[in-house]
Amino acid sequence: MLTYLAFAAVAAAADLAGALLVVRAHRKGLAPLRYFVAAGAGFMLAAAFVRMLPESAQVPHAFLFVLVGYFGVHLFEHTVAPHFHFGEEVHPEALLDPAAGYLALLGLGVHTLFDGVAIAAGFMIAPSLGVLLSIAVFLHKVPEGFTIASVMLAGGHSRAAAVGAGAILGVLTIAGALVTGFVAERHVGYALALSAGVTIYVAASDLIPEVNREGGPALAWTVFGGLVLFAVADWLLSPLLGAH
Ligand SMILES: [Zn+2]
Ligand SMILES: [Zn+2]
Repeated sequence: MLTYLAFAAVAAAADLAGALLVVRAHRKGLAPLRYFVAAGAGFMLAAAFVRMLPESAQVPHAFLFVLVGYFGVHLFEHTVAPHFHFGEEVHPEALLDPAAGYLALLGLGVHTLFDGVAIAAGFMIAPSLGVLLSIAVFLHKVPEGFTIASVMLAGGHSRAAAVGAGAILGVLTIAGALVTGFVAERHVGYALALSAGVTIYVAASDLIPEVNREGGPALAWTVFGGLVLFAVADWLLSPLLGAH
């Protein structure tokens, strides 16, 4: 339990770091974040299809839970919240109502809860899976904190509120890991199936569209870099940590 809480805490710190970048850094220095979005998308999709889905398929109706996870994120990020997308918020006109910022926080909060669920469920099944899913989460965490802080600022909230929103995402990640710890060992496949659906949504429906919108072959190629990174990490981890 301490292991996955530690990994969740590192991921949570990245949310905060991303939020601090928005209020502190000079805009020019933020371009590299797009490469984390692209590599994260590749890594997350590989982890979801190659490891999370096969592993969760051991519980009955696993793929129904994958579907619920997928559309759960869609519901909270894109229908409950009036305006949300990954990356720097450049549409303040869409966030005129300050409540829009809080609703985006609620939407992204549901997703970050499942970042923690994925980490804990992974560790409960096999340490190698836990480490892999931690990397998948970590790769998109800094851009995630960046996103929510920039949404809050665009919605007219203070810098303190923007950093606070990043911190809330971090706390929710730890909470997700903590709650998953109470799931019975034989039911952990359901937690993994739900978070696989969430991971697929975030990677394929939140991150990839940002990569394609921003354009540029270098950025698009970085998605494949994420796949290669996954292959290397998976290959290094499997003999080291046993099982799978
Ligand atoms: Zn926008
Ligand atoms: Zn996330």
